[in-house]
Amino acid sequence: MIGHRTHSKDQISLDIKEGAPSGIEALRVLNIKGLDRVAAIKVNNIIQDLSAPIGPGSMVDPVFIESEEGLDILRHSASHVMAMAVKELFPGVRVTIGPAIENGFYYDFDYQRPFKEDDLPLIEEKMVEIINQDLPFRREEMGSDKAAGFFRSQGEDYKVEIIEDLGEKIVSLYSHGSFTDLCRGPHLPSTGMIKAFKLVKTAGAYWRGDEKRAMLSRIYGVAFIDRKDLKEYLQRIEEAKKRDHIKLGKQLDLFSTYEEIGAGMIVWHPKGGILRHIIEEFEIQEHLKRGYEIVKGPQILKTELWEKSGHFDHYRENMYFTEIDKQSYGIKPMNCLSHMLIYRSKIRSYRDLPKRYFELGLVHRHERSGVLHGLSRVREFTQDDAHILCTPEQLDMEIKGVLDFIRDVMAIFRFDYELEISTRPEKSIGSDEDWDMATRALIKAVDDISLEYRINEGDGAFYGPKIDVKLKDALDRRWQCATVQCDFTLPERFDLSYVDIDNQKHKPVMIHRVILGSLERFIGVLIEHYAGAFPTWIAPVQVRILTVTDRNIPYAEKALKDLIGASIRAEADFRNEKLGLKVREAQMQKIPYMLVVGDKEAERGGVTPRLRNGKSLDFMDIGKFIDHIQEDCKQRR
Ligand SMILES: [Zn+2]
Ligand SMILES: [Zn+2]
Repeated sequence: MIGHRTHSKDQISLDIKEGAPSGIEALRVLNIKGLDRVAAIKVNNIIQDLSAPIGPGSMVDPVFIESEEGLDILRHSASHVMAMAVKELFPGVRVTIGPAIENGFYYDFDYQRPFKEDDLPLIEEKMVEIINQDLPFRREEMGSDKAAGFFRSQGEDYKVEIIEDLGEKIVSLYSHGSFTDLCRGPHLPSTGMIKAFKLVKTAGAYWRGDEKRAMLSRIYGVAFIDRKDLKEYLQRIEEAKKRDHIKLGKQLDLFSTYEEIGAGMIVWHPKGGILRHIIEEFEIQEHLKRGYEIVKGPQILKTELWEKSGHFDHYRENMYFTEIDKQSYGIKPMNCLSHMLIYRSKIRSYRDLPKRYFELGLVHRHERSGVLHGLSRVREFTQDDAHILCTPEQLDMEIKGVLDFIRDVMAIFRFDYELEISTRPEKSIGSDEDWDMATRALIKAVDDISLEYRINEGDGAFYGPKIDVKLKDALDRRWQCATVQCDFTLPERFDLSYVDIDNQKHKPVMIHRVILGSLERFIGVLIEHYAGAFPTWIAPVQVRILTVTDRNIPYAEKALKDLIGASIRAEADFRNEKLGLKVREAQMQKIPYMLVVGDKEAERGGVTPRLRNGKSLDFMDIGKFIDHIQEDCKQRR
C-alpha cells in the first residue's frame, strides 16, 4: 500500500493507492502522528469507523477526537456506554435513542419509574467499569427483518418501531461487550477512549416528542476529551447557575410567575418594574434620536385583518383569539398591521420616505408549555419593534442605520455579537428580483460597516431575507436578540404605495426590525450577563443608606431626601440591626453604592460611599456624591 499527502491546510488528506484492510492500518502506514487521538476516519469525505476497510484510490483524513466531528463521536459513543450501564443495572429497562448533543449526550429510556439524580452516581460507576474494560465497538450490517427479530427477542420494541419506520433493506448495528444498539455510526474504536464524562441530570421526554406517546426518562451527560476540559465546563455551568435569572429574579425581587395567572406570564415587582421602565425610556430616547416616530396600535384586531395579512393562515396556532358581539378578534402576536394602516392613512410621496414607526409593542404568542422558561420564553412580552417603509433605493442605507443602532446599543450594554444573514428558503413567496435586491442590500450593509457575518442558506423568513444578531454574554453564551427582516409581501397585501418622482405609484419595501427583541428576554440576558450586579445607570436601587445607630437617623433621612430629590434611586435601612448584617444584605441585593451614616458623617455632613465590591470612595459631601451618580448615568456605567 502506498499513499501520500495531497494537501494540508486544515486537514491532512491522504491518497491511498492500493487499498488497506482498515482505516487504522492506512493511517499507521502513512505514519500519522497521534493515532491514539484518532476517533474515526473520513474516506472520500464520508466519516467511517477506523476499522472500516479502505478501497484503493480512496482519499482519507483522520478525524481527531478534539475536532468537532471527533467530539460528536465521543459523545455519541458515551451514550451507548450509558445505555449498556443502565441495562445492566435496571433489568427490564427498554432503550430508545441516544444522540450526541452540544457538550454531551442523552439517552431516553422506558422504565417502570423515572430515573432520578440519585441514580446517576451508580450509573456513572458502571460506565467507568465498561470504559476501563476498553471494549471495542463492532459494526455489523444486517437485513432489516433479521435485525427487527433480534430486537423483538430482546423486548426492545422501540428499536423494532424505528427499524420499521426506516423502511430500509439493510440496517447497521453497533455492539460493545454484551450491548447491541441499532445505529448508523460511526463510533470510537473502543470504550477506553472516553476519558472524561459526567452525568448531569434527568428529565421526562415523550417518545418521538409526541405528547400522546409514552413518557420516557431521559438522562443527560457531558463528555470531553480530557478531565481539564470537563472541569472547565462544569465550572462554567456552576457559574451559570449562580447567574440564573430565575434565581436572581427572586433574590433581587424583580419578577414572579403564578400558576393561577397562567404559565409564561410575568408579574413585574417594583424593582423589576423600574428596571423595565429605565430600559424603555432609554429605547424611546435612542429611537427619537434616530428619526423614528412613536406610534401605538390596539391590542386586539379583527380576525379578518389577520386573514388578510396571512397571519391567520401561517401563524394561527400561536395566536390567541377572542369573540365579542359575534365579532372575532385576534390578539396581536406582532405589531406590523397597525403600522401599515398608519402608513396607508395618507398619500405618500417619495419625499416622505423613509417612515420609521416605533412601538414598544406588547404581544401574545402561544408557546408550548414545555418550552416556557423564566423570562427567556414567555407567552406575553414587549418588543422594541419598528417598521421602516422606504424606497428600494433607500433599503441599503436604512439597513445600515439599523446595524449602526445595534452596534451602539450593544456597546452600551457591553455585549459582543455575531451576525447571520439568512437567504431565501425553498418555501417562499415574492419575485426573484425582490429577493435578490433585498439580499444584496443586507450583505452590502454588513460589508460596508465591515462586520463579519455568516450566511445561513435558505433560512430566511418565507417573505424575505433577514439578519439575525446573536449577542455573546459574559459566559460566552449566544442569545438571539436583534433581527432585521425585509418584507415585500405585506406592502403588497395592504396595497401600500408612494408616488415617485415619475408621478407613478410604487410599492415601498418594509423592514421589520427589533434591537433588543423581547424586553423580557433581554432583561433575563442582562441579569445573567451582569450576574445581577447591574451598572448604576440601570440598577433598580442605586444607593442604600445604612445607619450605624438610631441617633444617625435624622441626618440619614436628610441625605435620603436629597438623593431622591435629585432623581437618584435611593432607599434606606434604618433598622436597629448590626451594621455587618445590613451591609451583607445590601451586597446580596447587589446595590452599587452603600452609604454608611455614622457619627462622623452626621457631624461633618457628608458620606463615605462603599461600593458593592468592597472598595470605598473618599468622604464627600452629598452634593458631590449626587454628581458622581449622575455622571455614572450619563456615561451609562
Ligand atoms: Zn450509535
Ligand atoms: Zn413586523
